[in-house]
Order: sequence, then C-alpha cells, then structure tokens
Amino acid sequence: MIEKIKIDKCPICSKSHTYKLEVERDQLIGMITLESSQYETIKFMRIFSCPKNGSVFKAKITLYQTPISKIKAVKIRGISNETQDN
Ligand SMILES: [Zn+2]
Repeated sequence: MIEKIKIDKCPICSKSHTYKLEVERDQLIGMITLESSQYETIKFMRIFSCPKNGSVFKAKITLYQTPISKIKAVKIRGISNETQDN
C-alpha cells in the first residue's frame, strides 16, 4: 500500500516535500473483535533525498498502526508529484 508523508522542513533546502511510502502492514482479519480505534504511533528513521539537488538527509517520520494492522516494513518510493515547487 502506498501512503504519503510530508517532510515539513527539508534540512537541505528548508522547503516541504511529500514522499511516497510503501507501507507493509499485517492484516489480522481473525482478530476483528479487538478495539480497532486503538491507534498507536510509531516512529521510523529513514533516509530521504531532497529533489532540489539530490542530497540525502535523515528524518524521523511518524506513522499510525492499530493492533490489527501492525506495520511490518516501510520503504521510501520517491517524491510525490503533488509537491509544489517554487
Ligand atoms: Zn529539499
């Protein structure tokens, strides 16, 4: 599943960028009696590259998971086209 994450302030150019993330989640359909409203935040440190000049930087991103949909893996899939560039 492709999700999007916004980096509010790029450490290279100080602009905001939106990246596409490929998020792999466990879907435990046998456990639907669990409270699915129970959201939990988890933080990941990932390497991003600035579209301005290709320099890379590390950033911490926060994603949400529930007990029935735990995140297994997160991969950066590049910059999202919706990013405004000015
Ligand atoms: Zn940048």
